[in-house]
Amino acid sequence: MGVNVKTFTDRQRRRHIVALTWSRTFEWDTEDWRDKASCRSVDPDLFFPVGTTGMALTQIEQAKAVCRACDAQARCLEFALATNQESGIWGGTAEDERRKLRKQWLARQRRAS
Ligand code: SF4
Repeated sequence: MGVNVKTFTDRQRRRHIVALTWSRTFEWDTEDWRDKASCRSVDPDLFFPVGTTGMALTQIEQAKAVCRACDAQARCLEFALATNQESGIWGGTAEDERRKLRKQWLARQRRAS
């Protein structure tokens, strides 16, 4: 079952298209991890909660549960960090978690170069 693109907002649609068509110029992004993505068969709105309180917390936990069972979780998170995905749930992380991880990721990149 494919992703239901009808439920995407324009912004989400652009983001999703970026994820699925990203030029694979990085060594870690050469595998087709997107083919293993558990979220391909889940309403994409689940991964883009509005806010961080109330019902959004339930939605975030539901999205993370999908990620925990996803074979592509590590690759997805790496992609999100490398491409600075600021919104939504990626690789089992929420926006605030990813901001912290992104700082660590950038520091690792600087040390490696
Ligand atoms: S880790 Fe989550 S957001 Fe990433 S591909 Fe898997 S299910 Fe989708």
